Amino acid sequence: MKLLSRRDFLKTSAVAAAALYTAPAVFTKGLSSAINFIDETSASFPLLQASGNHYEIGHAVGSAFSKNINTFLKRRVEWFNELIDYVQNDKTDYFIKLVGIAEEKFPYIVREMRGIAKGAGLDFEQIALMNLSTEISAMIERTKKAEGDENPGCSTFHLKNQKYQFIMHNEDGHDASADLMYMLHAKLASGTSYIAFMYPGMLAGVAPVMNSYGLGQTCNYIPCDEPKTGIPRAVLYRATVEAKSVKEAVKISTIESRAFAFHNNFCSFDNGQIVSLETIPGAYSLIETKDFYFHTNHNIHPDMKAYEKKEEDISGSSGSRLAVMTEEVKKLPAVSERTEQQLIGILSNHKQAPYSPCRHPRGNIRGITMGTAVMDINRKAMRMYKWNPCLATANNWITDYYLNADGNLKVVNPAA
Ligand SMILES: [Zn+2]
Repeated sequence: MKLLSRRDFLKTSAVAAAALYTAPAVFTKGLSSAINFIDETSASFPLLQASGNHYEIGHAVGSAFSKNINTFLKRRVEWFNELIDYVQNDKTDYFIKLVGIAEEKFPYIVREMRGIAKGAGLDFEQIALMNLSTEISAMIERTKKAEGDENPGCSTFHLKNQKYQFIMHNEDGHDASADLMYMLHAKLASGTSYIAFMYPGMLAGVAPVMNSYGLGQTCNYIPCDEPKTGIPRAVLYRATVEAKSVKEAVKISTIESRAFAFHNNFCSFDNGQIVSLETIPGAYSLIETKDFYFHTNHNIHPDMKAYEKKEEDISGSSGSRLAVMTEEVKKLPAVSERTEQQLIGILSNHKQAPYSPCRHPRGNIRGITMGTAVMDINRKAMRMYKWNPCLATANNWITDYYLNADGNLKVVNPAA
């Protein structure tokens, strides 16, 4: 495997000057003023349509969104340099081992990262490190407690009744990415297509995605105190993007030798199946949703009790959002009467801010809701609410993506 030596990595990874990050006005203003923000250009995220092999699609993404990827790295240069420092000084070569395992198990995913890097004018190691940052950050946190709430969140509902069948998911992350997110419609030479919500520089699958086999996927970060030398989280997320069924996606996600913990929501647009999959290295639990379910960012399955986080560890964002959702759900009618509108209302809720279901940054707590995805099984569509759902619903920043079995995409703005 061609990987730069630690020294070369250090030399080539000096990502621009430490430009001070200034968040766009819409995200830095208080809640009320943010709601007044009107996006005059578009109700949707920028969309790239690309076809080819994995490297070519990666290259197309890197080229098209080079500015987004490089801007993100400039904004988070301190964080990124800390990751680089760790990799540089790590005598165990943990990062290099993870990349090696990824290349051995999923060589096409590593080729895709190489394509992204080449297109964006970055080194492969930089793109790989962005995609493996959860594992490396966890290693850093083992020696020092990270400040603030840097871990990504995400709040998710599952609903199945006479009228609705969907996964609804708030994609939360660091606000340095918020105005740099994009959509990718990829048509792989293999015949697989997908429409994905994308973080700058990251592989598809980290954020919500739907594929041409009728598989929908969203993911929730789950902390992991002891990452293993195994397949990285983002690589497994990317691998399931091409799964042909929920069953295959679960099989990939529960492959032995996983490096990290995660929670997947998978659904079938064909048969209406919706599942919740909790994993940590060495254990997992799968629950099929009968009618209603919700999840944030800590393990809650009965079979995962032994691996539950301590109370103090979930008292931040994840525990707070789950508590608000639990309270708000109590006010809803019976499951048979529940609607998309009611649940988007809960995901737009600001109780216990900044650790509310709809997240807005405050002070050094930079978590934000980047967008809300609805895997709408009945309409066979992935709906995206752009940025915070409170803003998206008020401004009609809503877009529906219909992907058929041939991989052709239809984009509809329901408000237009
Ligand atoms: Zn909001």
